Amino acid sequence: MPPIEVMPSRERLDPVKVLELAEQLPGLIFQLHRRDDGHLHFPHLMGSGTRLLDLEPELLARDARPALERLHDADYPRLMAAIERSVRWCTPIITKFRLLLPGDICRWIAVRAQPERVDDGVLWHGMMLDISEQVAEEERLRALSDSDALTGLANRRKLLKRLDEEISLSNRHATPLSLMMLDLDHFKAINDTWGHLKGDEVLESLASCCRALLREEDLLARLGGEEFALVLPLTPRTNAERLAERLRRCVAEHDFGQMGAGRVTVSIGIAEHRVGDSREILLQRADRSLYQAKHRGRNRVEASG
Ligand code: GH3
Ligand code: MG
Ligand code: MG
Repeated sequence: MPPIEVMPSRERLDPVKVLELAEQLPGLIFQLHRRDDGHLHFPHLMGSGTRLLDLEPELLARDARPALERLHDADYPRLMAAIERSVRWCTPIITKFRLLLPGDICRWIAVRAQPERVDDGVLWHGMMLDISEQVAEEERLRALSDSDALTGLANRRKLLKRLDEEISLSNRHATPLSLMMLDLDHFKAINDTWGHLKGDEVLESLASCCRALLREEDLLARLGGEEFALVLPLTPRTNAERLAERLRRCVAEHDFGQMGAGRVTVSIGIAEHRVGDSREILLQRADRSLYQAKHRGRNRVEASG
């Protein structure tokens, strides 16, 4: 039986085979040189990933700028800062960035490069890999973990995260912030009369109904069941009350189909954030207002703070 071919020892490596292998790599390997005067160029670039750039490696061997000009605006300063940090501390570059390619194509690229001090500057030895599919999958999973499957609204997890951010901003800058809690009135009866599927449809329509009245920076979330919450940055109590009244009326007048207008109503509780109050306190106060709205007859708005 003939012996199985294995990789020869380092001394007997065939340079042509090595080159062939490098050219087939599903990414690219590179050397990036930064002269002491700041000029950047790629002395070597190899691998099938170089075709993605659609730039001549000979051109980039003299000047890296044509490649750098393809960086997404938001990523350019970050990558430059990573390069400068690597020069200063002699630590590897480990980051990712977006490349804008001809034909409006945007690809996410991961880069890892090890710096080496050389006479006239720093030389990195590194590799880049197209990770666009992986990034898209991560984004899809993140969106799923932050949203409610039925209505597509943010879920409780996302709401709590956002509330923490807004409370911290409000504490720091003493800006107004309001929280609204909405709960459908006698929703159990709607399910019992029209069926659970119709109930689900009402929840979906309610979400669209509210969304239409909100600003980009407001966050509407489904907390669970037939309960919703709305975070209103830069909104004092009186403005929140006005919006709540519009929402209340919009739902009461909306035709949810089959059952006729006026059958679906919401009760709304509002609390304005008081500097220093925790998230739990704010949620409790909004909840208490909602309880009052229910207690005082439903299809109404109550506020505190
Ligand atoms: P109240 O005015 O006091 O809020 O009365 P209510 O009937 O709305 O409140 P209750 O808490 O007694 O009942 C809530 C109902 O919401 C019970 C449940 O069947 C229904 N519900 C919760 N989640 C869903 C859902 O995802 N889909 C549907 N169709 N119904 C749901
Ligand atoms: Mg209810
Ligand atoms: Mg409820």
